Amino acid sequence: MNTIVTKFGGTSMADAEKFRKVAEIIKADERRKYVVVSAPGKRFKGDFKITDMFYLCYEKAEAGENIDALFSEITCRYNEIAEELDLPISLTYELERIKNAMYNMTGRDYAASRGEYLNAMILARYLGYDFIDAREAVFFNNDGTFNAEYTNDVMSARLKKHERAVIPGFYGAMPNGTIRTFSRGGSDITGSIVARAANAELYENWTDVSGFLMADPRIVDDPKVIETITYRELRELSYMGATVLHEDAIFPVQIAGIPINIRNTDRPQDRGTMIVADSTEYDTKNVITGIAGKKGFTAINIAKDMMNSEVGFGRKVLGVLEKRGISFEHLPSGIDTMSVIVKSSELAGRLEYILNGICQEAAPDSINAEDGIALIAVVGRAMVKSKGTAAKVFKAIAEADVNVKMIDQGSDELNIIIGIEESDFEKAVRAIYKEFVN
Ligand code: ASP
Repeated sequence: MNTIVTKFGGTSMADAEKFRKVAEIIKADERRKYVVVSAPGKRFKGDFKITDMFYLCYEKAEAGENIDALFSEITCRYNEIAEELDLPISLTYELERIKNAMYNMTGRDYAASRGEYLNAMILARYLGYDFIDAREAVFFNNDGTFNAEYTNDVMSARLKKHERAVIPGFYGAMPNGTIRTFSRGGSDITGSIVARAANAELYENWTDVSGFLMADPRIVDDPKVIETITYRELRELSYMGATVLHEDAIFPVQIAGIPINIRNTDRPQDRGTMIVADSTEYDTKNVITGIAGKKGFTAINIAKDMMNSEVGFGRKVLGVLEKRGISFEHLPSGIDTMSVIVKSSELAGRLEYILNGICQEAAPDSINAEDGIALIAVVGRAMVKSKGTAAKVFKAIAEADVNVKMIDQGSDELNIIIGIEESDFEKAVRAIYKEFVN
């Protein structure tokens, strides 16, 4: 029988009622053999995520403050879940151990990881599945980077010993055995690691939305859900600010070519978004897959006569940024001009210095910097096959009375990036969406 790895996010695991829904989903398909969970998230607006409470507890303990009240709130939340599910499980011993560890300064990451640890124990018991502690099967290197291959070997061997299991997300072990977490939202990465190790046919990531939307719903009213998206398209959109899945969650499954299906725990009937390696089996009717964008960029505009024939000009300019540890985002150029687009936050407090550096190294005829730039990425794997996409994008923008400052089309024709003034950002996104989606 094939295997599906499921991962449930914090909002899907927030209370006993959600646990019931999760169990129903898991039991509805017997291929759902391995389950990765987050810590309980917010139950309502204004509520606290357990992970944040654990972080706070640790900080208080570190500052020598009493954590009794806060810790008993955490205890209550877990006990409430276990009691409402009628589970014959006592977490008292585990919770006491964790509390003592807080006072003994066992580590900030250890504290944060306990949210997932306890949740996975409860769900394993509720489902009648085994529990695998991520500490024994997810590993980091001494420099804190994730040790992908060793993890894959150990995790695969471990999964073979358990027909069905629940694994806590978000953390693993350092070579000396201490706990280390991924960055926030990192249970998505654990899900992907388990999917790869289980050689799963599918990685289902259950969350509180029915997939990726074609545009930001704060800008476009009721945008459509993206049915299928390739890993590379997703990377383009995530880079530009679309968030649902942790960015690093792509890599483990991408290596193994396993698709990811983003699903909504509250609406299991929705098909969600499929994230796939190859688009050929998943053709799309839409020329564009999605639109995303960000504000907060600066363009450094450089002009020099005969720039095109000056060997090494680009290297000199980029060398100035490199020496100062600044990465650039885009590099549109003309015959005698080039612009370097950089995040404004990277230049804060040192713009003059950078401009002087470029003047000294590359001796341009003129140089200026323009901040307040927003970038919009129009992403679509079907662009390569369809004519007139750029024309449609620019017609839409022109009709919305937006001035284009920069255009950059990736050589793979997967995206068109447009630089505009920040004040035109929302208007431009809406205009492009309307042009392509009806
Ligand atoms: N619980 C962790 C967080 O809040 C990890 C996760 O939910 O994926 O960031």
